[in-house]
Amino acid sequence: MSLSVASILAESALRRPEHPALVSGSRKITYRELWDGARRYAAALRARGIGPDDKVALLLPSTPHFPAVYFGVLALGAIAVPVHALLRADEIAYVLEDSGAAALICAAPLLTEGGRAAETAGTPVLTVMEEEGDEEEWRTHAPRLDVLAERSTPIDRQVPRAPEDIAVILYTSGTTGRPKGALLTHLNVVMNVDTTMLSPFDFTEDDVLLGCLPLFHTFGQICGMNTCFRAGATLVLMPRFDGPGALDLMVREGCTVFMGVPTMYTALLDAARADPRRPALDRVFSGGSALPVAVLDAFRETFGCPVLEGYGLTETSPVVAYNQKAWPLRPGTVGRPIWGVEVEIARADVEGRIELVPAGELGEIVIRGHNVMAGYLNRPEATAEAVVDGWFRSGDLGVKDDEGYLSVVDRKKDVVLRGGYNVYPREVEDVLARHPAVAQAAVVGLPHPVHGEEVCAVVRARPGTAPGPALGAGIIAWSRERMAPYKYPRRVEFVEAFPLGPSGKVLKRELVAWLSAADP
Ligand code: ATP
Repeated sequence: MSLSVASILAESALRRPEHPALVSGSRKITYRELWDGARRYAAALRARGIGPDDKVALLLPSTPHFPAVYFGVLALGAIAVPVHALLRADEIAYVLEDSGAAALICAAPLLTEGGRAAETAGTPVLTVMEEEGDEEEWRTHAPRLDVLAERSTPIDRQVPRAPEDIAVILYTSGTTGRPKGALLTHLNVVMNVDTTMLSPFDFTEDDVLLGCLPLFHTFGQICGMNTCFRAGATLVLMPRFDGPGALDLMVREGCTVFMGVPTMYTALLDAARADPRRPALDRVFSGGSALPVAVLDAFRETFGCPVLEGYGLTETSPVVAYNQKAWPLRPGTVGRPIWGVEVEIARADVEGRIELVPAGELGEIVIRGHNVMAGYLNRPEATAEAVVDGWFRSGDLGVKDDEGYLSVVDRKKDVVLRGGYNVYPREVEDVLARHPAVAQAAVVGLPHPVHGEEVCAVVRARPGTAPGPALGAGIIAWSRERMAPYKYPRRVEFVEAFPLGPSGKVLKRELVAWLSAADP
C-alpha cells in the first residue's frame, strides 16, 4: 500500500471491514461499504475523464458523500479541493478558477451557488443527492455522480502516489486578502494524521468521535475524519452544530471523543444547563482559536473531562502543538510540539530571514517539519514570504517556556495598538470570560482620534441576564479593576450570536465593521 491519504481508509477497510466508519442519522456505514463507495466514485470519475493530478473541487456538506467522494478522488491519484460550503457563487468561482479544477462535485442543495460558480468558471459540474426532497433544488442538468457511481464497478486498486505529490488543496479563509490555496502533500497529511492519532489524540479503534466540525475545513477533515479513520474508529456525522443537538447525539451514540472550536464549548455549556445528561467523554480537544481558561474550567466541572487545547493552521496540515492527556495540563497553553515538528519563536519585525529569540520572549511562532505545506498554489511570492529557510511564519505571536510549552498570544494582525501600548485581545477576552454575566466575549480595536485605536468588547450575555447599557457599564467598571488602564475595554456592545466563519470561529472583521457602522 503506498504512502497516500487514500490508504488511510483502504487500510482500515482491510483491517476491520464490518466496523462502522460512519454514523449518519439512523444509518451506519461500515469501513467496507465506505471504501467500496469511494472506489465506485473513483470509477465514475475516471469514466468522466478525471485522472491523476487533476484537481476536483468538492462542495459538499458533512454527509456520507463527503468522505466517499474525497477518498474516491484521492484513490484515483487526483487532488481534492474541498470548498467551504457557505461560500457564495463568486467566491466559489474564484476557487474553481484559481485551482483550475477539472470538475466540481456539488451537493444538490448547494447547486444554486455552485451551479452559478461553475458556469462563470467554465467548470463541469457533477451532483450528488443526499435526501429525498433534494430534487426540488436540483434545477440544473448536472449529471448525478452518485447514480453513476452506484452503477460503476469499483476500481480495483488505488493509483500509487509519491509522498511529495499533492493530495489536497485547502483554501485559507482569506482574512488578509484573497484566499490562498495551501498545497498539502500526501506526506504532510499522512504524517500529521499518524503522529496525532498516537498522541495527542490517543485514538483507539473503539473510539466514537462526534464529527461536528465541517469536513471541508482542516480541523474537521484531517484531525477529525482522517485521524478517526486511520484508527479504525467511528465518526458520528453532524452536518450543522448546535449545542443541545450535539449533547443529545453524543449521549445517544456513546461518543468518547469530542473536537471543537471554543464557540462550541460555550454552546455545550449552555446546553448542559437545560439537559442533565452527560456523555462518557474520555478526551476532548479544542483548537482553531483561543479557549478562555474560564470556559476550560467550567467544561471540566460540568462534563468531568479536561479540555486539551492545541494549535494548528491550514498551512501546517494542521496540528503544530497540543496538550496531551499524559502530560501535566497547562491551561492557557497549547501544549508542546507534536512529534517531529520544531516550533520556535522568531523576531516578528525581521523580514526575509528567521531570527530566533530565547525561551520566554514574545515573537512570531515559526514552524518547521513534516507538517509544513509545499507552498501556496500559483503564488510564489506569498510562498517565499511565508516559508523562509524551511520555517513557516505563522502570523501568530507566542511565547515558549523552558519546558517547550507554547502559548499563543494573538494573531499579529489582531493586536490593538492603543496609545503606544500593544493590547492582546485574547488576554482581555480571557478576563472578560470570568465575569458572571458573560457567556462569550470578543475584543477588537477601533480607530480612535487620540489613542490611535480603542479597545472594544462585543459580548454574548448569559441567559437570565439583562444585556444593555447598565450591564455594559458594569462590565467596564469590573474590567477596570482587573486590567491595566490601557487594556480594559471602553466600549461594550451585546450580540445574541456572533458572526462565525465556516469553521465556527468568530469573524472579528465583521465585528469591526458592525461596531464602526454603529459608532456611538
Ligand atoms: P486565515 O485565512 O486568516 O488564515 P483561518 O482562521 O481560517 O484564517 P486557519 O488555518 O483555520 O485559518 O486557522 C489558523 C489560525 O487559527 C492560526 O493562525 C491562529 O491564529 C488560530 N488558532 C488556532 N488554534 C489556536 C489556539 N489554540 N489559540 C489561539 N489561536 C489559535
